[in-house]
Amino acid sequence: MIARANTIVPFTGAGISTECGIPDFRSPGGIWTRNRPIQFDEFVASQSARDESWRRRFAMEDVFAAAKPGRGHRALASLHRAGKIPAVITQNIDNLHQASGFAPDCVIELHGNTTYARCIGCGQVYQLDWVKRRFDQDGAAPDCSACEEPVKTATISFGQAMPEDEMQRATELSQSCDLFIAIGSSLVVWPAAGFPMMAKNSGARLVIINREPTEQDDIADLVIRHDIGETLGPFVGN
Ligand code: NAD
Repeated sequence: MIARANTIVPFTGAGISTECGIPDFRSPGGIWTRNRPIQFDEFVASQSARDESWRRRFAMEDVFAAAKPGRGHRALASLHRAGKIPAVITQNIDNLHQASGFAPDCVIELHGNTTYARCIGCGQVYQLDWVKRRFDQDGAAPDCSACEEPVKTATISFGQAMPEDEMQRATELSQSCDLFIAIGSSLVVWPAAGFPMMAKNSGARLVIINREPTEQDDIADLVIRHDIGETLGPFVGN
């Protein structure tokens, strides 16, 4: 299918990064088996929710900083270099597609990026080092130096609006590809989980690669219920 396709669009979830040491959300030992997610409204309304949110992020810093692209990321980057993949749509926030060789504008991040921070008021970008220094100094999550609104990781929390440009570009890619491959996602977080079906309805063939069953296996042309690194490994370095 990969050899025959002209335009392949991969759609990735946390499962592509588990071999890089970043836990997914819903597997045993995953992030949510330990922490209830903090909703966007809570983050905005409560200083203690912001403090807790940043404490959790700092606790993960060694994991994110040490993570290197895995076989899945490298395989997709090689198909990108070969001209088969125009861009990747990802729910991940870990920056590993960029690290594997995709140009930043070829990574459509539906849920943002956790490797930097942004003011939720004016959008000013901050490096995590700055946030950490301010947190250590004041013992509390900092506000924006320009507009005094809260500073948050540049991710999309539950209850927060989806990024419009990214949703638009993901829609166009899903509707124009001839092969759509969902990789390492439980396909339960909406609206992101709507893209596989959109691609299928627009005439693409749909492949799902995931260790566990997903809710959309029924509509796929092919389901590979196997490890991502092993499945995509043969495409690394092509
Ligand atoms: P999820 O945890 O719901 O599902 C991940 C799926 O990947 C699971 O079904 C699991 O069986 C499968 N999987 C895990 N390791 C695998 C492997 N090696 N081979 C094959 N399958 C494997 O994750 P999701 O669907 O991406 O959930 C969506 C939310 O999780 C997103 O909002 C995303 O922002 C967030 N998230 C991102 C990261 C990251 O950036 N790396 C990590 C955790 C959560």
